[in-house]
Amino acid sequence: MNLESFNKEAQRLKKQNKALLTSLKTKRGIKLDDVFQAAHAEVFEKTDCLTCANCCKTTSPIFYQSDIERAAKALGLKPGDFIKTYLVMDEDGDFVFTSAPCPFLDEDNYCKIYKDRPTACREYPHTNRKNIRQLLDLTYRNTLVCPAVLSIVEKVKLQIEKK
Ligand code: SF4
Ligand code: SF4
Repeated sequence: MNLESFNKEAQRLKKQNKALLTSLKTKRGIKLDDVFQAAHAEVFEKTDCLTCANCCKTTSPIFYQSDIERAAKALGLKPGDFIKTYLVMDEDGDFVFTSAPCPFLDEDNYCKIYKDRPTACREYPHTNRKNIRQLLDLTYRNTLVCPAVLSIVEKVKLQIEKK
């Protein structure tokens, strides 16, 4: 994955994508979940996340209590010590990593706690979730992080133009 060209392309399409995703919040007469889910499946069939890991390199998942307990147990730590070592509370009151890249990302882009990774990592980039209409701001932000999301939004764009 060439992240440099991805970043350039994401910046080039930024305004267009913002306008599209904002307009989809109120567009009716279209099964948006189906359109996104089809595009998501098509793009991820051809995406090798191990050549990318840009999400793990640049953003932090939110850690819920169950995520903290699971990851702490996997590392043989008490939840409180896990928080002290790795997490900080952000402005929304959510626990996130103190810094990026993620401390559990290894040099080959593998996750050292893969089996016990937080739910947000399992669900990333959320483009196949139900009620995608409620996740369009997040999807826009993810066009600037995730090459797969940028491609998914391009496919959605083509589908919408056809309708
Ligand atoms: S989910 Fe997106 S950003 Fe993360 S590794 Fe896969 S393609 Fe890259
Ligand atoms: S916990 Fe694993 S999947 Fe989640 S950001 Fe870190 S390396 Fe990536």
